[in-house]
Amino acid sequence: MASLRLDGVTVGYGGRTALDAVDLDVAEHEIVCVLGPSGSGKSTLLRTVAGLTEPDSGRVLLAGRDQRGVPPHRRGVGLMFQDHQLFPTRDVGGNVAFGPRMRGEPRGEVQGRVAELLEMVGLPGAQKRPVSALSGGEQQRVALARALAPSPGLLMLDEPLGQLDRSLRERLVVELRQLFRRLGTTVLAVTHDQGEAFALADRVVVMEAGRIAQTGSPVDVWLSPASEFVARFLGFTNLAAAVVRGRSADTPWGAVPVPPGAPQGPCTVLVRPAGVRLADPGEGLPCTVTARTLRGGGSSEISLLLAPEDGPELEASCPLHTAPGPGTTVSAAFDAAEVVVLPAR
Ligand code: ADP
Repeated sequence: MASLRLDGVTVGYGGRTALDAVDLDVAEHEIVCVLGPSGSGKSTLLRTVAGLTEPDSGRVLLAGRDQRGVPPHRRGVGLMFQDHQLFPTRDVGGNVAFGPRMRGEPRGEVQGRVAELLEMVGLPGAQKRPVSALSGGEQQRVALARALAPSPGLLMLDEPLGQLDRSLRERLVVELRQLFRRLGTTVLAVTHDQGEAFALADRVVVMEAGRIAQTGSPVDVWLSPASEFVARFLGFTNLAAAVVRGRSADTPWGAVPVPPGAPQGPCTVLVRPAGVRLADPGEGLPCTVTARTLRGGGSSEISLLLAPEDGPELEASCPLHTAPGPGTTVSAAFDAAEVVVLPAR
């Protein structure tokens, strides 16, 4: 397995900068997921590591070796793209064996490896099945086995589960993580789906317009988004311009308590939905419940949309069985532990 380093990598397309001096390290055996909205440079990053795009400046190092001028097939990276494009005229075994055969590995060894990989991806004995007879999820597993067959030093996945429905994705992503852990694979994956990234990755990298906006463990990024951009990308909406004075912030919702040590002065305040608590009447900010949304995934929490008399709408999280209905007047109070102070806009 190989480590990966990007060192000031810049890529432009006719004057437009797709990657802007990106520095990134992926350790051996680490699973890193690059997240970001469409156009933020995720695919360009993968293409550059794979050698399909040469950087205008900066270096890509694999296992410490500068890859400038090294063609894609000599980089030892495995690729699995969204449109996994299995060879339709080959059977499952023929697809998985493709890479090792191209490298001239002995037939017997290749067959053993194919059997082992199919077992690993949950399709034991599927060698002779035609790929046209496979479900979407099965095709994805075959594509994964094919990408792993040449034992790449680095496996790169581009929206690997993008085509599949949500429940299948949620299951496969857990399986993938277990499989990569077992194999010790170094993985660089790209997705726009936070759930997928957070379930798969040891570390996530959030991209914004060709730059890295934040990198950290899924929990760190979720608990402490570095900017309003990252917070909005993660789906947080309780964000407002504010000024911190002491242990409280002046916000459009009134005074909101902030955690100890929060920087003073102008900022953007984020209140996670769990930090918007329904209080006794008269204690907090008067609001009207405008919507109730089940969170799905078996959660016993419900998402409430609150319209305060003043200030932007607030999202609150509350237990299903005590959730007030739309039209109810409630009082909202804030918990400092769920408040994050971000840089000012
Ligand atoms: P993402 O994968 O996050 O959607 P991309 O890496 O595909 O982002 O694109 C980053 C930026 O580079 C976008 O502004 C996109 O329009 C531009 N871009 C990507 N590929 C090309 C190309 N082949 N020619 C011109 N512009 C491109």
